[in-house]
Amino acid sequence: MKRTLVTIGASYAGVQLAASARELGFDGSILLLGDEPDAPYQRPPLSKGFLTGSVAAERLPLRAQAFFDEERIQWMPSTRAVAIDRERRQVELHDGTRVDYDHLALTTGARVRKLDCPGATLAAVHYLRDLRDARRLADTARSARRAVVIGGGYIGLEAAASLRQKGVDVSVVETEQRLLARVASPWVSDFILQAHREHGVRFEFGRKVVRLRDTHDMHDMVSVELEDGTCLLCDLVVVGIGVIPNTELAADCGLKVAGGIAVDTCARTSDPSIVAAGDCASFVPHWAPEGAPACRIESVQNANDMARKAASTLVGRAEPYRALPWFWSDQYDLKLQMAGVNAGFTGFAVRGRVEERKFSLFYFRDDMLIAVDSINRPQDHMLARKLLANRVRISAQQAGDPAFDLKVLANRSEAVAPRTA
Ligand SMILES: Cc1cc2nc3c(=O)[nH]c(=O)nc-3n(C[C@H](O)[C@H](O)[C@H](O)COP(=O)(O)OP(=O)(O)OC[C@H]3O[C@@H](n4cnc5c(N)ncnc54)[C@H](O)[C@@H]3O)c2cc1C
Repeated sequence: MKRTLVTIGASYAGVQLAASARELGFDGSILLLGDEPDAPYQRPPLSKGFLTGSVAAERLPLRAQAFFDEERIQWMPSTRAVAIDRERRQVELHDGTRVDYDHLALTTGARVRKLDCPGATLAAVHYLRDLRDARRLADTARSARRAVVIGGGYIGLEAAASLRQKGVDVSVVETEQRLLARVASPWVSDFILQAHREHGVRFEFGRKVVRLRDTHDMHDMVSVELEDGTCLLCDLVVVGIGVIPNTELAADCGLKVAGGIAVDTCARTSDPSIVAAGDCASFVPHWAPEGAPACRIESVQNANDMARKAASTLVGRAEPYRALPWFWSDQYDLKLQMAGVNAGFTGFAVRGRVEERKFSLFYFRDDMLIAVDSINRPQDHMLARKLLANRVRISAQQAGDPAFDLKVLANRSEAVAPRTA
């Protein structure tokens, strides 16, 4: 009898997991449950080209419908899973229907963290996670004059850049003392800050938003009040203060949850017959130091690569997830690409020309290359991914020397080293 794979969550991880299961020879039924009405789509453009208007909605789908038909993946839109019965191996849907499964994958992703202060539910307040949020924000941005962006992380900064490109006046409020404090080196934070300032964005660092207030007397403006009494007037508020993993389904059916749905290196949850992947899953990455706590990684790379491993596990060919983390962000004319994890770096080398805004930072922990951030140097990024994946020895002096041929080194390493991904 043919077996059934049910995947809950139809975005990067869910779609990739279904596709990989087929590639690996899974011949049973595949049911992809998604609670959004739209066909699975790319999220990164929502804060970038979709918001500026350079990327149309038609370009967003992750895969054409023909792909789902050919691969016999039954994608069910607007279908929310509300409970998992592990004993009966059934998923209960929002309308009470029960679906049987033999294999179950949780790819439920994350939802936005909401602002929690008086005035947080005013109509001027926007979030950016899904297409519905993005359509609403793009619509408001067409007539907005002044925006306050709360949160100086990637989403907030990309929204700020897109709004500036549409002529909206922008202020960013960040509780930390620098931008991208959780993920970028101080050097990159500072570079990005300067770029935004050159485009006229203002910044309020080290203070929290304590209240939003409708100023009925001032043309429907909203006052964003900070803890030191500063008031920023605007007609649009964009909140980008992080996300919360969607773990409730897992927790309710007794799976272990620890900052995310806890999985082992092969994407198995605490019930080895159920896998989880993507933004919802927490694990100890292979690159983390000994004894490090589990964490979640929020990126397209992680969702796709982890989903591939989860599919391998489901078809009985489990292998550990050891892919190199990488990420990108577009702001104005800056293409930032990050490979590896720079936490704990002890030194770095600059390759390229900072004044031309085309350079890369090679981060070293002692004499080991651990990460590379590239700005408008896509070739460096691609080569860095090879160097890092193959743990190639390169000195800071070589990395910073424009005459040193990275390509030869990267390609040679690729030919001889076993892949770590
Ligand atoms: C605006 C924006 C810009 C971004 N830019 C970048 C970028 O430049 N580079 C990058 O690497 N990453 C970027 N990201 C992050 C990236 O999009 C995420 O890491 C990625 O989408 C994670 O994929 P996922 O499949 O794990 O989860 P998600 O994309 O969150 O998808 C989970 C899906 O599951 C659905 N779901 C949840 N619960 C249920 C349920 N009970 N029943 C049915 N369906 C359910 C959700 O509605 C959602 O559709 C960006 C994200 C956003 C929002």
